[in-house]
Amino acid sequence: MQPFDSMNDIKRLVENKLELVNNPIESWENDVEFYVRGPLAKVPKQEEEKNEWDIDAGMDSEKVLGKTIKVDNLATTRQKLGIENGSTIEIYGTIKCKSDMPKKCLKVDFDKDDGLEYNYFKCITCKLKWICEACNECCHVGQGHEVQPFLQKHVPDWACCYCVKKKKCFIKS
Ligand SMILES: [Zn+2]
Ligand SMILES: [Zn+2]
Ligand SMILES: [Zn+2]
Repeated sequence: MQPFDSMNDIKRLVENKLELVNNPIESWENDVEFYVRGPLAKVPKQEEEKNEWDIDAGMDSEKVLGKTIKVDNLATTRQKLGIENGSTIEIYGTIKCKSDMPKKCLKVDFDKDDGLEYNYFKCITCKLKWICEACNECCHVGQGHEVQPFLQKHVPDWACCYCVKKKKCFIKS
């Protein structure tokens, strides 16, 4: 962290990291809190045993055991917060990732011009082919049906999923 970095930069860092592992963040919920835990003091052993470093005795700041502060303003710079080298930043609360979002049937966002590849499945239980990946998971595998891959990496030229058409769909749209 540079002196003028803030928790907003840490947020961005976390976002980039998750993006890199293909698990992008959808939203930071309101319960997210940032804490900075100061570095642990390096106190020589015999001094620690004597227990001399009491706050009232006016202790050497070098020997202070890391204290934790809650960061209320994410834009406050590192310098203002007085974050020492070796401090730990802890994030608590709910961060929603795209992968946590409810699945959507291919039909919802399909755009022919995207030219995306889709994997299709067939459900033995429903005797149905042309089931999109999300529907396969939610409406068939999730219901305990027997499924098989049907077509891999197909580029449909229309919003093709028979799950909805055949009224087997459990995904609320
Ligand atoms: Zn579908
Ligand atoms: Zn089925
Ligand atoms: Zn479905």
